[in-house]
Amino acid sequence: MSLMTIEQRLALNTYEVDTEPHIRLKEEICRQCERQSCLYVCPAECFKAREGKISFNHEGCLECGSCHISCSREAIEWSYPRGHFGVSYEYG
Ligand code: SF4
Ligand code: SF4
Repeated sequence: MSLMTIEQRLALNTYEVDTEPHIRLKEEICRQCERQSCLYVCPAECFKAREGKISFNHEGCLECGSCHISCSREAIEWSYPRGHFGVSYEYG
C-alpha cells in the first residue's frame, strides 16, 4: 500500500462555502505590513499579493489558524465558519 501525498489528501477535502467570510483582514494595517507572513504560512494559499496589496479569499480555508498566529500586527479577525460551513476532512 502506498502512502498518500499531502496534495492527494487535500484534494479529498470537501467544502461548504459560506457567503459570509469567517476571516477578515484589517486592510489599513496590512497596507503598512512589510513582513506579510500570511503569504507564507497559509497551506491553502488563501492570501495573495496583488499590486502591493494583500487580498484574501476564504473559500479554500483549512481552518488551521496559522495566519492568525503568524500575524504579529493583529490584523486578522479570525473565527471558525458558522454552523455546518467550512472544510470537511472526513474523506481524507
Ligand atoms: S494579515 Fe498580518 S501578516 Fe498579513 S499582510 Fe496583514 S498585517 Fe501583514
Ligand atoms: S486558517 Fe489556515 S488555511 Fe485558513 S486562511 Fe488561515 S492559514 Fe490559511
